[in-house]
Amino acid sequence: MKPHSNVYRKNFSLIIIFMVLISVSFVVALIVAYNLTSAYVLDEFASKKIDVSEETIKPYNDFFLNKIPEITSYQGYLTYNSAADYSTSVFNDYPFVRHIVFYELAIGSAVKSHKKEHKLSIDIESMHQFRRRKNIIKGAPQKRLAAEADFNNMADKLNDFIAFSDTSREATQDEIFKTFYDVKPEKISYLNILRREDVKIYRGLLDHAQPGVVYRQNMMTFLLDAYHLKVNNNHKELYQSVTIRPVVYYPLENDASNIMITEVALPGAFSDYKLFFKSTKSYLIAETNRRFMPIGGIVLLIYMFLILIGYLIYRNLKINMQLFKLQYDFINNFTHEFKTPVSVIKIAGSNLRGESGLSERQLKHYGKILDEEADKLNDLMNKLLSFTQLENKSINIKIEEIVLNDFVDKYIDSFRIKYADFKLSCKIKNVNTIYTDPVLLGSLFQNLMENAYKYSHPEKKELHINITRDKRNVIFSFKDKGIGIPKKELTNVFNKFYRIENKYNQNGSVGLGLAFCKELVNFMHGEIIVNSQVDQGSEFVVTLPYDN
Ligand code: ATP
Ligand code: MG
Repeated sequence: MKPHSNVYRKNFSLIIIFMVLISVSFVVALIVAYNLTSAYVLDEFASKKIDVSEETIKPYNDFFLNKIPEITSYQGYLTYNSAADYSTSVFNDYPFVRHIVFYELAIGSAVKSHKKEHKLSIDIESMHQFRRRKNIIKGAPQKRLAAEADFNNMADKLNDFIAFSDTSREATQDEIFKTFYDVKPEKISYLNILRREDVKIYRGLLDHAQPGVVYRQNMMTFLLDAYHLKVNNNHKELYQSVTIRPVVYYPLENDASNIMITEVALPGAFSDYKLFFKSTKSYLIAETNRRFMPIGGIVLLIYMFLILIGYLIYRNLKINMQLFKLQYDFINNFTHEFKTPVSVIKIAGSNLRGESGLSERQLKHYGKILDEEADKLNDLMNKLLSFTQLENKSINIKIEEIVLNDFVDKYIDSFRIKYADFKLSCKIKNVNTIYTDPVLLGSLFQNLMENAYKYSHPEKKELHINITRDKRNVIFSFKDKGIGIPKKELTNVFNKFYRIENKYNQNGSVGLGLAFCKELVNFMHGEIIVNSQVDQGSEFVVTLPYDN
C-alpha cells in the first residue's frame, strides 16, 4: 500500500502545483492584458484626434475647394443680386462664414502720373457687405479703409500675374492658389480666376494704354469665425470634450493628475485656432475597462476550462485511489475472513486424522466445529454471490404478503438469542402488512440490525425499530445509540467494500453490508438514507413501496 500511496500523493501534489501555476498565470495574464489595453487606449487618445480634426474641418475644405470657385463660374462677372444669392447659400451651408464683402472692380489702363509703368489701374468700383443676421442678409457699402488692405494685396498679385504669367499654357493650380486666393487668419479673399484670353487682353492693355477702356472683375472677402465651426467628435469614447481654442490657450486649472489633454492645430484660415481635447482619467479608465471586459472574459473562460481539466484529473485520481483502497481492503478482509475458518477446519481435520480412539463427545465436538466453520465460509461465499447476482439483476423476486408484526418479531427473537446484551424495541403504526420479497427484506433487517449491534459501545447496544406508512410507502427506521458516522462519510458508507475503520470492524467485516442494502432497496424500488451524529447514534431509514 505504501509505495502506491506515495505515487498518489505525488500525483496530488502535481495537480496542486498545476492549479497554482494556472492561477498565477491567470492573474499575470489579466494584469498584462489590462495594462496593454490601457496603453492602447492612451495611444488612441493621442492619435485619433486626427480623425476628429479631419471630420471637423471637412465643411471648411468643402467651402474652400468647391464653394469659393463657384464665383468664377458666374461667367467672370457677378452682379449685386447674384452676389447676394451666392452669399445666402454660403451663409446657409457654412455657419463659420459670418460676413462677406463683395467688390466690383474696374480694370483699365494705368494713368502714368501716379501708377508705375507695368501696372494696370485696378479700382474698387463698388463694395457691398453681406452679413448673417437672423438669416436676413443685408447689402451695405463697406468702409473703404477697412477693405483697403485686402484689396491692395489682391490687386498687386493680379497685376503681377497679368504682367508675368505664361500665357502659352493654362495656369497651374499652385499659381491659381497663389494669385487668386489670399488666406489670412479668419479671412479668405478670392478674385475671379482669369481665363487665358482675359490675361491676353489685359496684357494688351498693359502694353498699349487705351484710356477709357474699363473691364470689370469681382472679388470677395469671406470673414470667418472659428468658433462657429461645428466640432464633430466622432470618438466620443476617447474624448470627453473637444473644443475650439486659440493656439495660445493653455488651461490654467490643469490638474495634471486627473485630466488628460491633447490638441491639434487647425489648418488654413483657422491656423490661429486649435482643437483642444480633454478627458478625465476616470473617463479613459472606464473606456479601458469596457475594452478589457471581453478580453478578461476570454482569459477567465480559458482559466475555468483549465481548472475544470485540473479538477477532473483530481477527481479521477481520487476515485482511483479509493478504488485502490477498496481493492486492497477487500483482499485483506476476505483473506482474513477465509483464513480463520480454513485454519480452524485444518486443525480439526488433522486432529481427527492424527488422534486415535477419540471419544464420541470429541468426535461430535470436531464435527460441530467443522460444520460451523463450513457455514461461515458458506455465508461469506453467499454474501459475495448474492451481491453479484443483485448487481447483475439476476435474482428472482418472490412477492408475498408479509405480516410485519410476525416478521419483525422473528428477527428480534433471533437477535436476542444471538446477542443477549442487545436491547431491542419495535413500534409499528398504521400498517400491518407489506407486499414484497421476504428474503430480500430479511437481508435488509439482518444487515442493519447486525450493524446496529456491531457499531455500538458495549454498554449501549440498543436498537429501536419504527415502522409507519405514508400514502404509498412503508417506512422502516432503524435507530441505534452507537458510535455514529462522521458527516463526510455519510455517503461513502453505501459504497462497496467501504469501511470506516474502527475497533468494531477489525474482524469479520468486509464493507459489503450497506452496499448490499442499497442495491436491495434499489432493486425493490425504494430508497435508503442515513442520519447520524458521532457518539450519539445513527438512524437508517428505508422507504419501500407498500405494493411492489
Ligand atoms: P460487513 O457488513 O460487510 O460485514 P461492514 O459492517 O464494515 O462489513 P457495512 O455494513 O457496509 O460494512 O458498513 C460500512 C461502514 O459503515 C462500517 O465499516 C461502519 O464503520 C459504518 N457503519 C455501518 N452501520 C453503522 C452504524 N449503525 N453505526 C455506526 N457506523 C456504522
Ligand atoms: Mg455491516
